[in-house]
Amino acid sequence: MTQSLSGQRPARRRVADGHRGLPWVVVGAGPYGLSVAAHLRAAGVPVRVFGEVMGSWRHAMATGMFLKSTPDAVDLSVPEPGGRLADFRRLHGEPRLTELTPIPCEVFVRYGQWFQKQYVGDVDPVRVVGVDHTEDRGALNVRLDDGRHIAAAAVVVATGLNGLAHVPAALLPLAPEGTGPAALVSHTSHHSDLSCFAGQRVAVIGGGQSALESAALMHEAGAEVLVLVRERKVRWGSVPQPDRPLPRRLARPASPLGPGWTLAAVCRAPGAVRRLPPAARMLLFRRALGPSGGWWLRDRVEGVVPVRTACRVVRAEAAGTEARLELAGPAGPPETLTVDHVLAATGYRLDLGTLPFLLPEVLRDVECVPGSKAPRLSSRFESSVPGLYFTGSLAAPTFGPMLRFVAGTRFAATRIAYDALQRAIRH
Ligand SMILES: Cc1cc2nc3c(=O)[nH]c(=O)nc-3n(C[C@H](O)[C@H](O)[C@H](O)COP(=O)(O)OP(=O)(O)OC[C@H]3O[C@@H](n4cnc5c(N)ncnc54)[C@H](O)[C@@H]3O)c2cc1C
Repeated sequence: MTQSLSGQRPARRRVADGHRGLPWVVVGAGPYGLSVAAHLRAAGVPVRVFGEVMGSWRHAMATGMFLKSTPDAVDLSVPEPGGRLADFRRLHGEPRLTELTPIPCEVFVRYGQWFQKQYVGDVDPVRVVGVDHTEDRGALNVRLDDGRHIAAAAVVVATGLNGLAHVPAALLPLAPEGTGPAALVSHTSHHSDLSCFAGQRVAVIGGGQSALESAALMHEAGAEVLVLVRERKVRWGSVPQPDRPLPRRLARPASPLGPGWTLAAVCRAPGAVRRLPPAARMLLFRRALGPSGGWWLRDRVEGVVPVRTACRVVRAEAAGTEARLELAGPAGPPETLTVDHVLAATGYRLDLGTLPFLLPEVLRDVECVPGSKAPRLSSRFESSVPGLYFTGSLAAPTFGPMLRFVAGTRFAATRIAYDALQRAIRH
């Protein structure tokens, strides 16, 4: 098949599906939604995709950010050669990225947009506001923000971390009307431009990449920043060494999520992770990758932006236009800190109940992985509701940490497309 810089591929042969020609609906057009759609389309399965192409990367990440992953770990997936980030760069005459060149988010967004044109075709940017059963329960009903309804043979939820942002309860008194850029506390996902904090005193809560990179960007934009980290020290990724000698490669094998045997194993066999006892999977989910900053960020933070470690916010209150934080450390009495804004870089909580589009009739039928509020999934990503699939982070408690990252798109998309074909054959 020929490849061009723009334009769409011709529609593939259609497979008969078991639901009177109903399409599969993919909710979300980020790396997972686009990869699943590309595989379904290549398999001839009728598919409709809803969501803004690379929407999270355009609106929930700040201008000037870079990916923490290396270039070989962020390929979207299509079942034919030519769709990798390296192919996109080559076709556009852009230099090859190596492990030592961090990828600007802007490059990744352009890659996703190109991938969509090449391998997915039409994507409807409208939001999905409801998924429930059809009256005869033979299919799923998808409600769109513009009032349209669509009956779907199956629905694949690929909405990433949208709706799952977590702000610790201790900070909520700062925003009785709700968190956001205009309140005294916001979550990192609320911002696409952190230069709005120039000239302000900002406390950043968290010790991971989001916290450290946001702090660097705000400092560089002229804000007075203090990072408050719960852990005893900030962890940094190590500088990649592309030509490591064999003994070191054996001791710490490479993987898309970084070096080490555990990471290499969970990336090589996400299907085997699913067969572990739920408690072991949840432990992997929580512990396999702790918070850390990318190696390339270190010089922009260490010795540049003040960081206080072993420090917790135990109380917060609004004092006029300022936020007053009570901080507890390992020793001594609590301290008070007054700032103009608190930025919660406190991650995400996987909780199906907070997804606004899963209507109660469907939600109550979705079984969760024990010890979590994330869906329990079949080996092909189907939940306990027939025809309802989940990908990306929501699949990580089933298949392990790789599903939190773009590196998991191939595994997810291949299995879901295979299931789509099996369903078509069964019917
Ligand atoms: C700051 C930050 C940095 C990260 N860096 C990396 C990294 O370097 N490498 C890496 O592998 N991963 C990284 N991640 C994780 C990253 O989010 C995922 O790897 C990747 O984006 C997951 O893709 P996704 O398709 O599941 O979700 P997303 O990319 O979040 O895409 C979600 C899609 O769903 C759409 N959507 C949401 N709700 C609806 C709705 N109701 N109706 C219709 N559409 C909807 C959105 O518009 C979007 O199109 C990072 C995450 C964050 C927050």
